[in-house]
Amino acid sequence: MTNIPDYFGSLVFDDRVMKAMLSANTYRSLKKTIKEGASLDLSVANAVASAMKDWAISKGATHFTHWFQPLTGITAEKHDSFISPAPDGGVIMEFSGKELIKGEPDASSFPSGGLRATFEARGYTAWDPTSYAFIKDKTLCIPTAFCSYSGHALDKKTPLLRSMEALNKQALRILRLFGHTDVKRVNTSVGAEQEYFLIDRELYKKRKDLIFTGRTLFGAKSPKGQEMDDHYFGVIKPRVQEFMSDLDEELWKLGVYAKTEHNEVAPAQHELAPIFTTTNIATDQNQLTMEIMQKVASKHGLVCLLHEKPFAGVNGSGKHNNWSMATDKGVNLLSPGETPYDNAQFLIFLCAVIKAVDDYQDLLRIAVATAGNDHRLGAQEAPPAVVSIFLGDELTAIMDAIVNDKPYSAQEKTTMKLGVDTLPKFNRDETDRNRTSPFAFTGNKFEFRMLGSSNSIACTNIMLNSAVAESLRIYADRLENAENFDEKLHEMIKKTFSDHRRIIFNGNGYDEKWILEAEERGLSNYRTTPDCMPHLLDEKNVKMLTGLGVFTIEELQSRCEIMLENYCKAVIIEANTMVDMSRKEILPAIVKYSADVAMNLSRKKTVLPELACNFEKTLVSKLSILIDRIDETTDELENATLEVRDVSDTIQQGYAIRDTLLGKMSELRAVCDEAERITSEEYWPMPNYGELFFGV
Ligand code: ADP
Ligand code: MG
Repeated sequence: MTNIPDYFGSLVFDDRVMKAMLSANTYRSLKKTIKEGASLDLSVANAVASAMKDWAISKGATHFTHWFQPLTGITAEKHDSFISPAPDGGVIMEFSGKELIKGEPDASSFPSGGLRATFEARGYTAWDPTSYAFIKDKTLCIPTAFCSYSGHALDKKTPLLRSMEALNKQALRILRLFGHTDVKRVNTSVGAEQEYFLIDRELYKKRKDLIFTGRTLFGAKSPKGQEMDDHYFGVIKPRVQEFMSDLDEELWKLGVYAKTEHNEVAPAQHELAPIFTTTNIATDQNQLTMEIMQKVASKHGLVCLLHEKPFAGVNGSGKHNNWSMATDKGVNLLSPGETPYDNAQFLIFLCAVIKAVDDYQDLLRIAVATAGNDHRLGAQEAPPAVVSIFLGDELTAIMDAIVNDKPYSAQEKTTMKLGVDTLPKFNRDETDRNRTSPFAFTGNKFEFRMLGSSNSIACTNIMLNSAVAESLRIYADRLENAENFDEKLHEMIKKTFSDHRRIIFNGNGYDEKWILEAEERGLSNYRTTPDCMPHLLDEKNVKMLTGLGVFTIEELQSRCEIMLENYCKAVIIEANTMVDMSRKEILPAIVKYSADVAMNLSRKKTVLPELACNFEKTLVSKLSILIDRIDETTDELENATLEVRDVSDTIQQGYAIRDTLLGKMSELRAVCDEAERITSEEYWPMPNYGELFFGV
């Protein structure tokens, strides 16, 4: 391929293309819409649509689609071609402003959690001009929001945009108080580091569990796993290297700033990190990245696994959401400044995050709750299910000094009196040695590490933006009415630090002792999805999210329902797959193996009756016992699944899964894995862990 700058973004209708292809007036109107959310009139939309069409056709596109993010967690598209009949029997290529702005996919089979009555099956999609259109598979993709006709959001983008708006509004109020009247917009920025596994496609095809559920439901430990730590940042295998180069190239064409690709801790595990960008673009790009990863993998005879826990016994995959707030003047609001004045402003934004995370721990946990991610959180490899903040030593010392009216270091003689003019200068502490914290301050941004690898980052950022907007709203209300700004500011920062001290934890998050301490501190610890999800509808959460206009109550109810339903469906499919594999593959294999061994044993005995044949005898007897246990446990799992399926209330169904089904699944896995350990590889009906890990 040619020079990267030559093809970077070549499949994106970005600012460069807009400038080149739109008239000056159209360009100006569109930019105004993008920057300030001004509404767009139809003549402008028509001009943009026509330019988009010409550009897309010149790049080989034949179709267009509104690209959206329904509540299934993946993206959806419905392709229409540009062609329109011409009077002479030929075709002309058409694309109107109306088609650009609004689409009407038949939405009846997307989950709506009761928001869209069936008689009103259609939803509509609406163009999001703040995220660039792009070409994928000869199709012009237009990023859109997805709503019902009654105006309820049926997707993840709509509330995300609303949450960004809420944060913008409240952050601007604070900035005005600091005299920044020139700032027009505050955006949140996100860089989402993405982990994934790559395995050989031929091996994948031989495992129903991977095909149906994305993870292995059986599998004895391989003699070698991740214990040598030799994979992390290790040499990348040639086939993986080719995949990564191809992936980078495809992503670059789509304008995604894929920056680093490296191996991760577990064998066959890798990571991709992009350069951060505005949150809604980062969200679209992360969805796109996950999709392209899977496509590129299949071109290389590989399968990209995005499940949070594809294999027992080695690390699962997560996603790190690096998050900050920045003004349209390019100032990062979470960057400590050079002067006391800047630092006071930094501290109030820092306080807003600390308060937000403590007040809405549950929402951050809920945002990452899926059946898959429940296997990671709290499993000694990923952050615990308890949300806490790592601030680092220096900021924690500053915080304690402010709370106690003490100097914050030996050198610093003055107490931390926090007038805007009196705050001492402190250095930016970039030392993030703590990889076990779910929410770590890393110098000028926060890194939230609880996301699962397959999660859309939308939910996390909706909650984070909203919770921080709420803190800022409360601060702004108080500061705007303060008689003495400096005093009020000091009081509020001090109060935040002392009220929310419990959420700060700089120690080892994987330590069992921390979980006990967290309980004493009153932090919530929701281990599973059914534990946390119902709290979405807690009064304080509903009040905050509806108050800021991010969700309506109906939208929250529908989300709670859908997320729980997804959880239940996912686990029930896993249970059914286990029963199927156990009966049709595992039991027959062990039966055959033990029968063959028994046959050999009896032949041997006929020829050489004096031999003890202890090995064969023990093996046949062990296998026979296991066969019966597997059979019984399979029956039990099947019955448990049928019982769970009949529970009609989704919350109760979730509890039943948590309390009975998961346990039965582990039992069945344990006996099957035991059988795998003593069964000849020749007979075992599916590729084992060793082959999957080291088969590429
Ligand atoms: P590392 O985690 O390896 O130390 P960095 O901290 O530089 O690397 O970056 C990790 C991720 O954080 C990258 O995706 C990067 O683009 C992103 N990032 C850096 N600054 C910001 C910011 N201000 N807002 C959001 N994300 C950021
Ligand atoms: Mg990082």
